[in-house]
Amino acid sequence: MSERSSFREHVTTHPEVVERFGDLHPPFDRQAAVPEANRCLYCFDAPCTTACPTHIDVPRFIKKIASGNLAGSARTILDANILGASCARACPVEVLCEGACVMHRYNKQPIQIARLQRFAMDSLHESGAPLPFEPGAETGLSVALIGAGPASLACAAELRRRGIRAHLYDAHPLPGGLNTYGVAEYKLPLVESLREIEMLSQLGVEFHFETMIDAAALAELERKHDAVFLGIGLGAIHRLGIAGEELSGVTNALDLIAGYKSGALTKVPERVVVVGAGNTAIDCATIAQRLGAERVTIVYRRTSHEMTAYPHEYEFAKNEGIEFRFLARPIETVVKDSQVTGLLCSQMKLGAPDASGRPSVEPVPGGEFLIPADQIVKAIGQQKPSLARTLNLETSGGYIAVDETFQTSIPGVFAIGDCIRSRGEASTVMAVQDGKMAAHALHARLTAPVSSGKGA
Ligand code: SF4
Repeated sequence: MSERSSFREHVTTHPEVVERFGDLHPPFDRQAAVPEANRCLYCFDAPCTTACPTHIDVPRFIKKIASGNLAGSARTILDANILGASCARACPVEVLCEGACVMHRYNKQPIQIARLQRFAMDSLHESGAPLPFEPGAETGLSVALIGAGPASLACAAELRRRGIRAHLYDAHPLPGGLNTYGVAEYKLPLVESLREIEMLSQLGVEFHFETMIDAAALAELERKHDAVFLGIGLGAIHRLGIAGEELSGVTNALDLIAGYKSGALTKVPERVVVVGAGNTAIDCATIAQRLGAERVTIVYRRTSHEMTAYPHEYEFAKNEGIEFRFLARPIETVVKDSQVTGLLCSQMKLGAPDASGRPSVEPVPGGEFLIPADQIVKAIGQQKPSLARTLNLETSGGYIAVDETFQTSIPGVFAIGDCIRSRGEASTVMAVQDGKMAAHALHARLTAPVSSGKGA
């Protein structure tokens, strides 16, 4: 176990990474932020707020920027979303708040909500001011949270504001989960994720790193705490199920992203093939290109219409020069002298819709072809949370099943974030909302007056 007051001390910043992974959306300065804030119509029933899963009061925080009250603006954001800084950088705002902005109706550019949010949050961080919240009066209650990703962090912060002790346990040496280890650096730099968590930890959240939790450890935590939260995310990246998958030239999306963010990976070979067509596959492809690959190809068995990446991510990748090979399914890794030299694929064609409504795919007879590759990256989604089986929890579609208070099939054990996300897009902002709502539900449950057991 270890506890750290400053997480960023443990990170080495690599100039090469900083240079190659500059901000995708550069920050506003005050001269740019105020006019942009003044464009906002401060809509009464703002659709941008409705579209935000954490319901940040967008017109309110923007108005405070316009009036020069940056501390107040940051407080408005943090009150709804304690990870407002990372969400300002990593949220898919094109399909959330900015996508809902009324400016679209007038054929005008939507208000740049994310950049304004980042401006307010960066101003708070750079001012050196403390988090604008205090821990609540101590209740004597304590909760263990397994996994230190966004869901657990948000839950822990809300619990602390209500006087409940929060202990976070994580297998990694640093907190933040995918925010720290799994988001492309040009969207959310690792040090920014840690800076936000340092601020949040002012509430008195206690961290325990490099700690693995099994059934025996869970039982021990249940004994020591009033409740246990599982914010464990998803499992390993799915296997391709093809020959040659174990070779060193084949890696997976999570290792690639975590590798370069930690500085362990600073370059990739010339030809990289990424298998998959979600937002993580796009991240991997653009990262590989920034790490020096001359040719990066995304391989997907269906077409651009069926890919799960957001349209703006697809456009971004195309503009970056990433090649797409649709209707292609990997069938074998091609190897020479123990080195990966290519990916043999089968040409596919679309068929009738399957049970999910997506078109099925079937191989075109004789339609095999080779894509030259020195490295292959698997980015075909993560497996369902394996801890659910280990702990014998009830599941729904492979995800941990919970009731409306986030309680699992084990009383006193709750689950939040991606591990319960059986529908909709998993994201930081959804995880934050889960954590917040679960903390509110638990606080209400633990502090409810004890019933006398007598009827009315
Ligand atoms: Fe401002 Fe657009 Fe939100 Fe209206 S919808 S309050 S214009 S950001």
